[in-house]
Amino acid sequence: MWLKGNLHTHTNLSDGDSDPSEVCRCYAESGYDFLSITDHGIVVDPVELDCKDLVLIPGIELSTASKNEPHLPIHINGLGVRAPVAVEQWDTKWQTIQNCIDAIVNAGGIAQINHPNFHFALNAYDISLTRGARLLEIYNGHPQVYSDGDEAHVSVEELWDQLLTNGLLIYGTAVDDSHHFAGEFQPRRANPFRGWVCVRVRERSAREILRGLVTGDFYASTGVRLEDVWVDGWKYHVAIDTSCASFGEADAYVTQFIGDNGRVLHESTSAHTEFNLRQAGGARYVRARVVGSDGKKAWCQPRLIPEFWRR
Ligand SMILES: [Zn+2]
Ligand SMILES: [Zn+2]
Repeated sequence: MWLKGNLHTHTNLSDGDSDPSEVCRCYAESGYDFLSITDHGIVVDPVELDCKDLVLIPGIELSTASKNEPHLPIHINGLGVRAPVAVEQWDTKWQTIQNCIDAIVNAGGIAQINHPNFHFALNAYDISLTRGARLLEIYNGHPQVYSDGDEAHVSVEELWDQLLTNGLLIYGTAVDDSHHFAGEFQPRRANPFRGWVCVRVRERSAREILRGLVTGDFYASTGVRLEDVWVDGWKYHVAIDTSCASFGEADAYVTQFIGDNGRVLHESTSAHTEFNLRQAGGARYVRARVVGSDGKKAWCQPRLIPEFWRR
């Protein structure tokens, strides 16, 4: 079973505009299965919220910066963290990121590196020096985070390929970073329902969702829904669910298999595509991406190619 959820959400306990119960109601009514409220420096205890329609994953957004470059924000989500964790500023960005990751992992959580292109604060070098973060936001719906990069900076998806090519296995998420639930929904506001993850679970529980995130048994989406994605031996399969109009307006899809440095190894317009990982041409990893004719995407997680297949 697949569950759909958002891993980055703010309420009026930090800089969002609505209280936690209202935010939960909003997501539940839109068909989400789970939610992590990740206010800046604060953990909302799910037990205190009356929201039985959603599985709530306790979370926090650690918001800091290095001593050497205090104008460049370092924001790291701790998912599954049940109490606030203290962060320390270190001299460099990578040391400060590492301190956040360690604090989250020591508190029993999963670390997600948020919006690297917010103020273009974090590059592949900063992140590749760290260890222990499982997740990287490759899409963030906030209007000021430049997920697609600009003339001078690569997109976060390209940054992800740089990390994977350098041997750092990290899984890609799409999130809302939602702040604005009241008033008008428009591109310049940080509204909900722009990016999400679908996680494969055996039961409807926070523990199962966290297990799926840690093991990469999920995909990220801005509107493309998959029927399934799986690896069977050396075959990487992607099956698109073309039946559900509510997940996008696309009438055509391209599935691409991508290797080192973002190179497209194979592409197909079939609803179900399989790629033989032995034909990855020496690539260290293979990941898949589906792009709809409406521009909406789904990103599947990287699979490492065993050494003996690469020779
Ligand atoms: Zn942030
Ligand atoms: Zn945020």
